[in-house]
Amino acid sequence: MNTENVRTRFAPSPTGFMHIGNLRTALYTYIIAKKYGGKFILRIEDTDQGRFVEGATEVIYDTLRKCGLNWDEGPDIGGPVGPYVQSERMGIFKQYAEQLVKSGHAYYCFCTKERMEQVHEEQKAKGITPTYDRHCRDLPKEEVDRLLAEGVPYVIRQKIPLDGETTFHDELYGDITVPNADLDDQILLKADGMPTYNFANVVDDHLMGITHVVRGNEYLSSAPKYNLLYEAFGWEIPEYIHVERIMRDATHKLAKRDGDAYFGDFVEKGYYIPAILNYIALLGWAPKGEQEIFSLDELIAEFDIGGLSKSPAIFDPVKMTAINAEWLRKISHEEFKELALPYIRQTCKREDIDIDVLVKTLQPRTELLSDIPEKVDFIDQLREYDNELFFNKKMKTNAETALPALQAVLPVLEGIADGDWTEEKIHAAVFAEIEKLGVKNGWVLLPMRAALSGKAMTPGGGIELAAILGKTESLSRIKMALEKLGQQN
Ligand code: GLU
Repeated sequence: MNTENVRTRFAPSPTGFMHIGNLRTALYTYIIAKKYGGKFILRIEDTDQGRFVEGATEVIYDTLRKCGLNWDEGPDIGGPVGPYVQSERMGIFKQYAEQLVKSGHAYYCFCTKERMEQVHEEQKAKGITPTYDRHCRDLPKEEVDRLLAEGVPYVIRQKIPLDGETTFHDELYGDITVPNADLDDQILLKADGMPTYNFANVVDDHLMGITHVVRGNEYLSSAPKYNLLYEAFGWEIPEYIHVERIMRDATHKLAKRDGDAYFGDFVEKGYYIPAILNYIALLGWAPKGEQEIFSLDELIAEFDIGGLSKSPAIFDPVKMTAINAEWLRKISHEEFKELALPYIRQTCKREDIDIDVLVKTLQPRTELLSDIPEKVDFIDQLREYDNELFFNKKMKTNAETALPALQAVLPVLEGIADGDWTEEKIHAAVFAEIEKLGVKNGWVLLPMRAALSGKAMTPGGGIELAAILGKTESLSRIKMALEKLGQQN
């Protein structure tokens, strides 16, 4: 692969939210530019006005920025080969299409929509894939001039050689050769003067000096036609890297209806952005070693085109969540705290708790940030619970054993001075009592946890919960439990 003066581009169409397949293309494109000290260019391909979605361009900017995929040239910051919004480049394409007509690589086509529909119907009836029948390919020049002078609407089509073969090279797939007879005379310029994607991408990639084109392999079959265009213009062909699809399972693409096909879906579900990038990088690319957790900088260092996969990647939410959990464990306490606080505050508004102990307790136990509100909901409100909560077969605890356990631990906790109410001190005091009683840890800690939270599953055990809740609240909850147990036993 050529690694000199690398210029790559991400060329999304603003048609909605950012699908993670597109984001992954952006990521690989960015990585390749940065790995070789090149430039990463953002080009908005908005020529298909029918598919344009209001606000979609902002979603693209916002997603790339949040992910740290900062572009060196683009619509908002400009650059030497702008404009970077395709609809603002309209004047350019007509002239290039006409140049191809002159050189004999394209032609005017005056076929009406009605004629085309009829031709396609006939082809379908014969079991042929509908394609253009090249009706206008060899119209005499005088006829063409007359129709143009009359103002008859036209499109410009590519004049594909009728025989021979075209070979193109993909960095991943190697050389691919197709018979020209299999290629259609595709439209380059539409009746409204707009270029098709198939034409605009070639002209723009050339004018913008793009050296490496990374895109989804749905474009693989069109690549020979692009090469014929580059050759017709006498332009250098960029290096292609067509990446595989992302699938829900062996037969279904990861689609919108799955509810987790878009970047925004994952952020909403409580995934941490560097973890999202990390996971999607691995969807279709295998690092050389065992390491799985990569920051963007590490991805740039490790990435190698040879590691890209030639078979579709299956999206695995379990794996993605595991990677997210690992990221959340790895970041600093301060960073985790900043991420976690808005989630904590959804259900826990109390200010008098030890938030740092809570955060410390949550950090190693959080898979998704959005799990947090439910985990901490016991802090503001102790829910109604029944004796079942004290039952644990392994620890041999139940409502009867909870009573003496809590009776023993209450004076111990009361004995800790207010200023000493820290996790460490509570731990020391409670464990001294456990030793004195000669019981298993769980015999005391489990009822403590149940009394303090009213829940069987909590972030952290009895000691941590006591530290989080503070002395007054902890004693009051234990006394309440004792009262309840005392009345029942
Ligand atoms: N606008 C095209 C898309 O969003 C870009 C394809 C390409 O990268 O060439 O699919």
